[in-house]
Amino acid sequence: MKIAVLGTGYVGLSTGVCLSEIGHSVICIDTDEQKIKSLRQGISPIYEPGLETLLVQNAAAGRLLFTTSHREALIGAEIIIIAVGTPQRDDGGADLSYLEQAAKDIAAHLVQSAVVVLKSTVPVGTNEFIEKIMEDQCNERVTLEMVSNPEFLRQGSAIMDTMQPDRIIIGFDNEEAAMKVQEMYRPLNAPFVLTSIKSAEMIKYASNAFLATKISFINEVANLCGVVGADVEDVAKGMGKDKRIGESFLQPGIGYGGSCFPKDVKALLHTANLHGIQFSLLKETVAINDFQQELLVTKAIKRFGELKGKKVAMLGLAFKPETDDMREAPSIKIARSLAKLGAEVVAYDPVAIDNAKKILRDTIRYASSAHEAALDADAVFIVTEWNEFRHLNLEALMNIMKQPIVFDGRNCFGEERIRACKKIEYYPIGRPSIIIGMT
Ligand code: NAD
Repeated sequence: MKIAVLGTGYVGLSTGVCLSEIGHSVICIDTDEQKIKSLRQGISPIYEPGLETLLVQNAAAGRLLFTTSHREALIGAEIIIIAVGTPQRDDGGADLSYLEQAAKDIAAHLVQSAVVVLKSTVPVGTNEFIEKIMEDQCNERVTLEMVSNPEFLRQGSAIMDTMQPDRIIIGFDNEEAAMKVQEMYRPLNAPFVLTSIKSAEMIKYASNAFLATKISFINEVANLCGVVGADVEDVAKGMGKDKRIGESFLQPGIGYGGSCFPKDVKALLHTANLHGIQFSLLKETVAINDFQQELLVTKAIKRFGELKGKKVAMLGLAFKPETDDMREAPSIKIARSLAKLGAEVVAYDPVAIDNAKKILRDTIRYASSAHEAALDADAVFIVTEWNEFRHLNLEALMNIMKQPIVFDGRNCFGEERIRACKKIEYYPIGRPSIIIGMT
């Protein structure tokens, strides 16, 4: 099947690469010339495990092309997938301007009838709005059918999630169009959920809001565990074994970040507000997350009194491991708070430093290893749970610090690892702190 994908970000590129891997002829289009130049050279502009290998293989097989020309991309396309960004507006709602432009681009260049699949995360009613723009501006011989097909991949495991999705949502009002999209995905052997366009749009927001709420819930439980002397890791394990609850998204930490949960939760609240629905549970989800993102700083103030002049080594900048994405990463808030309080921050991340520099600039300094960051530091903040940090030689790290104090925002170390150190002060989330060999 000939498919055009608009947008080569985390979603569009993963989708385009995987659809070519299952045998389709895919052309990806982006307005960012640098991205397309890099993709044509077989270099992925984003860090995503496994993506570049598949990109190179499928491009070499002639099934995957890249262009900046909408006209070239849309010639003969049977399915057009829109995967452009829908970032947050200042009022919390979704910014649909990229989408509007994408719809105008399609209308201006499409010369044959096609199915338009909207994959970007969009508020209820957006498919209708986009369809109207295209219908109004398209060549009158062209017929377009919309299918809402929200995406659920996770950055860091985008390829696996795209190749083995839990379900594929197909929101439609034209049966033939829905069948065409099912045919496109058939080789993935995944269950389909067929529904109306509005329900499909809502499924995406409700899913992300539920997962964000699960995270805030376990974080509140963790904060309670911390004061009553319980261990949240055991509590989460005990809860998660209950099939009705499930084990995922019960890891306590310093809150959710990234390009989806924060904006999608706020966009759903915005929609609720527009329709006079309070959704106070979701408001609390956001408030708990805001509190949680400041937790390491709060704990450090409690420990040190004041942070002025203290050197803090920040391990991890990306919003989660296995990605270079800094959008809404908790590290941004933490770094800014520390800098404001007069602390000197030196950060290390295996892949996100270049992106972090674009946001944090010289608010902090950057190191090329965890050890370099921790040298003579008064405290280590563990912000992203990269495996590299889980496997650190803790004893060696503590030895090069001015004070061997660790605030672990991701509970990277079990009690045994900590107790093997001769001298350490260790403050995890929702578990008892451990102090060894300090006078
Ligand atoms: P992104 O910002 O990484 O990529 C969007 C791309 O679209 C950019 O490269 C941009 O240059 C390009 N673009 C903008 N206008 C264009 C146009 N008119 N024609 C062609 N290209 C255009 O975004 P993303 O993270 O991939 O997210 C895309 C959508 O998918 C969003 O709605 C997001 O909420 C949703 N989503 C994201 C994830 C995720 O993990 N990132 C997961 C599920 C859903």
